[in-house]
Amino acid sequence: MRVKCVLCDRIDTIDDESLLAKRLRNRPIHTYMCQECHDRIAEKTKARLATGKFRIYRAKLPNDEW
Ligand SMILES: [Zn+2]
Repeated sequence: MRVKCVLCDRIDTIDDESLLAKRLRNRPIHTYMCQECHDRIAEKTKARLATGKFRIYRAKLPNDEW
């Protein structure tokens, strides 16, 4: 079956019997993303997770007034 990538409009042909084809047929909500875009998104997600780490700051240790 022919599928169109939602992000770059590239037309790919995937095996009718593949899991992905079945999933797309059963649930049209599932949109197809080509490998390239998939990788790009994965990179972005990774990058976001990496930046997220910088936002974690150490809480100041409470000063004990003993
Ligand atoms: Zn794409």
